[in-house]
Amino acid sequence: MAPPLTFTFDLEDHRPAGEPWPERFTEPTLRILEWLEERSIRGTFFVVGTLAQDHPQLVRRIAGHGHEVGLHHWTHTQLTEMTPAQFRVDVDRGKRVLEDILGEEVAGYRAPTASLVPRTAAAADLLAEAGYQYSSSVLPAHNPLFGFPGAPNEPFRWPCGLAEFPLAVAGFGPAKVPVTGGTYLRALPWPVVAAFRRFQPWAPGNSVYFHPYDIDPDEPFWWVDDAGRLAPILWIGRRGMLGRLDRLFADGGAPPLRERMHLADRGGVFHPPATVGVA
Ligand SMILES: [Zn+2]
Repeated sequence: MAPPLTFTFDLEDHRPAGEPWPERFTEPTLRILEWLEERSIRGTFFVVGTLAQDHPQLVRRIAGHGHEVGLHHWTHTQLTEMTPAQFRVDVDRGKRVLEDILGEEVAGYRAPTASLVPRTAAAADLLAEAGYQYSSSVLPAHNPLFGFPGAPNEPFRWPCGLAEFPLAVAGFGPAKVPVTGGTYLRALPWPVVAAFRRFQPWAPGNSVYFHPYDIDPDEPFWWVDDAGRLAPILWIGRRGMLGRLDRLFADGGAPPLRERMHLADRGGVFHPPATVGVA
């Protein structure tokens, strides 16, 4: 049977830039806090820095429920779209803002859209230099958007010492998918998820990841830039998502990622292919 998963949530503002639409992330976030409270599960919330700056009370509320707060970059920009210098400025600023809000050190970082890929692997060094202790930014498989084929499925350490918690993937050969998160968790028929869980279980230290919009069935459709032509699948299965979580967490959840870094020592050091910089 698969080991318990850590609950992780990427708190981001999913509105199209420049549109005067009301924000939709607070209500699903509060609903998730309640859902976790009822089940005595503590997890990790990765928050976009600009969102945290504008909504510090929401960040404090998350921490007040006993959850860990990490950074989901300063803006929701993929690492492939920035220089190493810009990346470093952003992760410094995000850490400072979160720590000012929380009054405690921030240990964790998650790249937008799992964009820590072979050509951005130098980001691990920059995160360690900035004082982060771990990242959860790698999708260790081929993927239509971003992926890091060849990276371990289990928590590991980068050569600089930073711990990495890869997203859970399951499947056979190159056809591995991140079955415990986002679109895959919403859209795959439940028997498929259950079969993965039974026959291709994910590793200790893996997590469920999703976003406010994953449980927001009433959001009007729009073409999400990050997803390109895949945008329509972002709307599939939202109404059933909490039911999926109920099943995945029926036996409880694993602790926040910050409390599981010993698992990365067990996984050992992963040497990525040589890279020249973040972008
Ligand atoms: Zn994100």
